Amino acid sequence: MTDHRYVYDLSEGSAEMKPLLGGKGAGVAEMMRVGVPVPDGFTITTEACVETMKRQGEWPEGLDEQAWEGLQRLEERTGRKLGDPDKPLLVSVRSGAVISMPGMMDTILNLGISDETVEAIAREADNERFAWDCYRRFIQMYGEVVEGIDAHVYEDALTALKESEGVESDTDLTAEDLKGLVDTFKKLSNEKLGGNWTTDPREQLMRAVDAVFRSWLNPRAFVYRKANKISDDLGTAVNVMQMVFGNRGDSSATGVCFTRNPATGANELYGEFLQNAQGEDVVAGIRTPKPLAEMEEILPEAYQQLTATMKKMEAHYRDMQDMEFTVENGKLYLLQTRNGKRTAAAALKVARDLVDEGVITKEEALLRIEPGQLDQLLHEAIDPSHSEKPVTEGLPASPGAAVGEAVFDADLAAERGAAGDKVVLIRFETTPDDIHGVLQSQGVLTAHGGMTSHAAVVARGMGKPCVAGARGIKIDYEAKTLTIGQTVIHEGDPITLDGSTGEVYASALPLIPPQINEDFQEVLSWADAVRRLGVEANADNATDAAKARELGAEGIGLCRTEHMFFGPDRLPAMHEMITAETPEERKTAVDKILPMQQSDFEGIFTAMKGLPVTVRLLDPPLHEFLPNLVEQSLKVQELELKGAGAGELDKERRLLAQVKKLHEQNPMLGTRGCRLGMLYPEIPDMQARAIIRAVMAVLEREGETVEINIMIPLVFNPTELETQRRIVADAVADELSKAGKEVEVRIGTMIELPRAALVADKIAEHADFFSFGTNDLTQTTLGISRDDAENGFLTEYLQTKVLKVNPFASIDVDGVGQLVAGAVEKGRRTNPKLGLGICGEHGGDPDSIHFFHEVGLDYVSCSPFRVPVARFAAAQAVLRATK
Ligand code: ADP
Ligand code: MG
Ligand code: MG
Repeated sequence: MTDHRYVYDLSEGSAEMKPLLGGKGAGVAEMMRVGVPVPDGFTITTEACVETMKRQGEWPEGLDEQAWEGLQRLEERTGRKLGDPDKPLLVSVRSGAVISMPGMMDTILNLGISDETVEAIAREADNERFAWDCYRRFIQMYGEVVEGIDAHVYEDALTALKESEGVESDTDLTAEDLKGLVDTFKKLSNEKLGGNWTTDPREQLMRAVDAVFRSWLNPRAFVYRKANKISDDLGTAVNVMQMVFGNRGDSSATGVCFTRNPATGANELYGEFLQNAQGEDVVAGIRTPKPLAEMEEILPEAYQQLTATMKKMEAHYRDMQDMEFTVENGKLYLLQTRNGKRTAAAALKVARDLVDEGVITKEEALLRIEPGQLDQLLHEAIDPSHSEKPVTEGLPASPGAAVGEAVFDADLAAERGAAGDKVVLIRFETTPDDIHGVLQSQGVLTAHGGMTSHAAVVARGMGKPCVAGARGIKIDYEAKTLTIGQTVIHEGDPITLDGSTGEVYASALPLIPPQINEDFQEVLSWADAVRRLGVEANADNATDAAKARELGAEGIGLCRTEHMFFGPDRLPAMHEMITAETPEERKTAVDKILPMQQSDFEGIFTAMKGLPVTVRLLDPPLHEFLPNLVEQSLKVQELELKGAGAGELDKERRLLAQVKKLHEQNPMLGTRGCRLGMLYPEIPDMQARAIIRAVMAVLEREGETVEINIMIPLVFNPTELETQRRIVADAVADELSKAGKEVEVRIGTMIELPRAALVADKIAEHADFFSFGTNDLTQTTLGISRDDAENGFLTEYLQTKVLKVNPFASIDVDGVGQLVAGAVEKGRRTNPKLGLGICGEHGGDPDSIHFFHEVGLDYVSCSPFRVPVARFAAAQAVLRATK
């Protein structure tokens, strides 16, 4: 016989033993330890479950004996015996994993009730109907949950009985009726199990324990654990506890409570109870429960004790608790306590209040908040006080809430949205052809696709809420309906999406505005005090820059200039420049763009005065500046036919020749980044002048200007940077001397090609700073064209787990991350004062931010709406590292 312990009395356990006893078992044991009244019992450990799993369902040696001894000790302590006809012990069998998860076995209540014990229970309760009702509920629960008998078997028999008795509700059945029903239930159960139905409570107990172990292995549980990165080796514990009865009359009750309001975080009474009820009756919604405050009058003593216990347990765990309780004949018992789930707003309020109350430190508070929760607060959300149930759930693909009328067609969505109607676009999946509809919708719902599906990517880019891949929805484009089970939503019907949770509602729910309130600001100020990384934003225009600054950005880490060359007033000058035959002609053409660009910069610099701004010089996909090859050919043909003048014809022919010459098979790897500036030095020269003139103009007008950094894109060798730097530096010096001013201008480069990272020591000879362009660096390192992949194989790769995370969402630490780390090291070796930042989308991703903190970057730059999350994640990176 082995002496390994698999069974612990509740009195032996504690909160620290959670890995062994599971969350529920350790929680109840801890309450007992600190003197809170709980029903007595024992726990079979998670190890027993894992061992049983390893033995293909066979219990490890010693478990059987230990479980019986545990039961025996419980019988001695309670003075009752399982199956005893005079003083029967009834127990509940509750599963409890270390991390609470769905799909585990439902709790079995009232185990121990049988033909032999039912009369004793009736006698003790002085209520025959109660005893028989417990009995028939037990058979039903045990039959379904442990023996896997179809729920219909019992429900049909119950319905038949009600019909034959001519009653509406279960509660109208008499003790005699229920006695008959128990007989029927037993007979049916035995039939279903081919004569193997057991009526022995001891055997039922062992089979129930076994069923808990098995529930750890059910396919749903496997899938859930995989998705949530929970190890299969944790196992679940089994808690066997004496029953207490909330259904013994009006001085008995059952209820749930939170120590603070989980929706708002307010420090106030929050909970519900139901008199004369058992187990899940409160949440099952059969009868309407009463607010907890009313318990003060009905059950005053239990109420006082409960509120005192709530305070005590909150202080004990130093966090908001979610608790279950039962009152039996006026006496209070606690059945569960755990850290309460809460909304994002509540998480911040509770954290702030607990710090104010001196319960936890600011650092602890920061570590408790999920960065993703902040993200929710930056968007409109569904008012948490609603009581609607979602009709389905999908992936929370883009945060925020959307309310509107259902529309199944992108054109109609675009039309109605533009006319000012609020619509929600519902598609099987979206394609690039739907973008105009997405743009004019409040949000998007799709039946297919994952987090990187087209709809998800586009919606996130536009800041629109999106629920992708919603389960069990049927879309009929012909009939213009969305069917979810019994619910049919027609075109024009109201619908609400919660892109932060993935929930979908078949009605128009009230929304609350973004909650960048005092709690939010306060908690972020703690984060700012802790973090080492700077947080800047990517912004290409004055509006985004102002937003970024409002959300706490300490500068602009990436200001792209591509769009400054588009538009009907600018493109002709670009065409002129591209077809120019001499440098002078080219310069004349480019100089036409200069003042327009200067005014763009002035807007951004005004919004950011006093802070650093990093402007990236033109990084074109060249073809975007050129007319389409076919169109230009046609145009030339037309002019020839018309017999157009030599001057005009000549101009268009030259453009056509350039289009042919510059046509690229693969623009992504073509004349991009500084390569265009190498061909046409007039462009970087002009941009540098526009930047300096804008800096000066803002200084003059505002009395203050920005710290300016000029960034050269996409270099792969030091000579490129050396050349571009000289062009820029000369232009800067010239402009400054003309203005008679001295301003420090730093010139650096993007590191976004693997070769640039590998020769970073040589590139650093010409750079004041590096900014890692991790979007392109990921594309070029993995050889993946993002736009193509996210609509194609990448989704498949993520589903089949070839890739664990989307490398465009969270940095590929082992590959791209190593290039970054190496380049940081090499760059600093050459130039210890080299500034180091990152400006890819990863700059707003918490996991990536932790990595950038570790490799020692100076700052991250992300989209304006990610700035708070980044500030927060940067603080957590410091706290995690020191922990
Ligand atoms: P879940 O994890 O689904 O909440 P629980 O094990 O907490 O499952 O139990 C389900 C319900 O049964 C809860 O309302 C709980 O309070 C109640 N319950 C569990 N054990 C007992 C018991 N020994 N006496 C009375 N009620 C119990
Ligand atoms: Mg519970
Ligand atoms: Mg790039």
